[in-house]
Amino acid sequence: MSPTHPGHPLVRFTGVQKTYDGLSLVVKSLDLDIQRGEFLSLLGPSGSGKTTTLMMLAGFESPTAGEILLDGAPITRTPPHKRNFGMVFQNYALFPHLTVAQNVAYPLTVRKVPKADIASRVAKALDMVQLGGKGDRLPAQLSGGQQQRVALARALVFEPQLVLMDEPLGALDKQLREHMQIELKELHRQLGVTFVYVTHDQGEALTMSDRVAVFNDGLIQQIDPVEKLYETPVNRFVAGFVGDST
Ligand code: ADP
Repeated sequence: MSPTHPGHPLVRFTGVQKTYDGLSLVVKSLDLDIQRGEFLSLLGPSGSGKTTTLMMLAGFESPTAGEILLDGAPITRTPPHKRNFGMVFQNYALFPHLTVAQNVAYPLTVRKVPKADIASRVAKALDMVQLGGKGDRLPAQLSGGQQQRVALARALVFEPQLVLMDEPLGALDKQLREHMQIELKELHRQLGVTFVYVTHDQGEALTMSDRVAVFNDGLIQQIDPVEKLYETPVNRFVAGFVGDST
């Protein structure tokens, strides 16, 4: 893991652009600081560039132009598997041949956490997502929503420095989604881990976040604390999009 330098934001995007086809920019010009410990949501309509932004941070896509710094150093110096990021993407693939408990234990095993600690941390993580009794099951024996919660437990169990989530509660029913929103918020408060959370759901972004970056058409239209977005939206798009949640 890279050392922590309090003088730098945890992550800094400067002039980042991305094209997939060499013709159209899906991220047009991104300048964004992510502060240590904040819960930042990337909010915007489908196709506005949120997932692409997260993929570049995760290291699954490279920027076409610009630079991303992690702790003040080019992020490319830290290979993706050493970034110590917890991730939950839309395809929350679990290892099908491992039990639920083994799936959640996996990030601890690869980090060589002592065996004696693994069981208790896995149990705690599974309790958090209300899957306490399901550790011995295989993923195929769980519903889609339950599998998604296993992925959440696996992303959080090793207390990562940064948690990247892309619509992580999308497959859950309303009641469970609201429960998980509260749990994630509480976890954020307890652990002080930095969250970058992609959603197209205004209500979700506004309830959970310290700050919200409102995306449209490959650009951040506004990035501000929730109250400020409501009180002083910078343009019609933000006013309309944020206002939709009320
Ligand atoms: P969002 O997360 O806001 O829905 P995305 O970042 O997924 O937006 O997509 C932004 C644009 O980039 C969309 O027009 C999408 O079709 C395009 N896009 C995303 N991923 C790829 C890819 N792997 N190849 C080509 N185009 C892509």
